[in-house]
Amino acid sequence: MNAKKHFETEAIRNQTERSQFSEHSTPLYLTSSFVFDDAEDMRASFAEENEKNLYSRFSNPNTTEFVDKIVAMEGAESGYAFATGMAAIFSTFGALLKSGDHIVSARSVFGSTHTLFTKYLPNWNIETSYFKVDEVDRIESLIQPNTKIIYAETPTNPAVDILDLELLGKIAKKHNLLLVIDNCFATPYLQQPIKFGADIVVHSATKLIDGQGRVLGGVAVGKEDLIREIYLFSRNTGPAMSPFNAWVLSKSLETLAVRVDKHCENALKVAEYLENNSNVNWVKYPFLRSHPQYEVAKKQMKFGGNIVSFELNGGIEAGRNFLNKIKMCSLSANLGDTRTIVTHPASTTHSKLSEKDRLEVSITDGLVRISVGLEHIDDIINDLDQALKN
Ligand SMILES: *Cc1c(COP(=O)(O)O)cnc(C)c1O
Repeated sequence: MNAKKHFETEAIRNQTERSQFSEHSTPLYLTSSFVFDDAEDMRASFAEENEKNLYSRFSNPNTTEFVDKIVAMEGAESGYAFATGMAAIFSTFGALLKSGDHIVSARSVFGSTHTLFTKYLPNWNIETSYFKVDEVDRIESLIQPNTKIIYAETPTNPAVDILDLELLGKIAKKHNLLLVIDNCFATPYLQQPIKFGADIVVHSATKLIDGQGRVLGGVAVGKEDLIREIYLFSRNTGPAMSPFNAWVLSKSLETLAVRVDKHCENALKVAEYLENNSNVNWVKYPFLRSHPQYEVAKKQMKFGGNIVSFELNGGIEAGRNFLNKIKMCSLSANLGDTRTIVTHPASTTHSKLSEKDRLEVSITDGLVRISVGLEHIDDIINDLDQALKN
């Protein structure tokens, strides 16, 4: 019997074949290349007549193990691992688009992805049109004869808005477009966009997949023929994940489910606490009933994730004061770490945008983003509470 295993089991038992040493836990294969038995073996490997590793820019046992786990968790056919999340996103566009193509994207996407759309892809004559999260009914009107890809993240960064994956999947199918979803905030544990019609799912493995703020990584998974294109592009352009990072990340996946369960439990408590604080205008968390897309979040996510956003009374100054009063939580650019991290986008990551442009992506001056960690919930809330007191 070859029953499909559960998520937690795939993350633990999907393992590279043991070496002659019968190690229990997969070792690190730090090798740039691999050897062949004879001329025929070498010929066959280069002709891809076998599955042998040739060179670690193409594949390596550690990256293969990491990718195989993500493929199983996302319900994908195939995948490829990258040095960073941005390498995964850029290589997906590089492999699947050509000059003259067009993208329809949600306006709220990760900062560097937005820079790709506005600064670099236009150099290759690839343009992007945008829809806001509350304007999904406009998506079809943005589609042009040369549109190839619909692109979105959900939940979005930093405002944790939710886009309806089922709706995006239907629109992509109807117009014969590729749906590419950045699933970084949800992880494959909470949400599998392929079920709703995504063709490619990309991740920054740097965030919750590592979960401990140690290594960078990225991965793209999806349909076999598309991943083949992404693989060929990447094996020639060189954004491969290092074996060491793949080894770390594959171990991280073994604990993804238990970690993310706890992250979500803590985040919901933080969101509920903030909802009852009089210095807070509003709180957004996908699994709070007050979230505008609560029903959609419930439909497509297992739990609400670890990111909570809220707005302080008092704009930019209040945001800066809040950060200065924080004692335990970290002021840092990462997210999805064991350590709780607070950021104030208007004075940091998004300070170069005008107030109007910030509002386009739902960033008000008093918006604070919390990546809720795994410390004891009372300690997290105590720190936030003392920082929120006037
Ligand atoms: C961090 C992040 C990325 C980029 O990932 P890197 O590993 O930093 O290159 C892409 N998308 C989202 C949603 C992210 O949070």
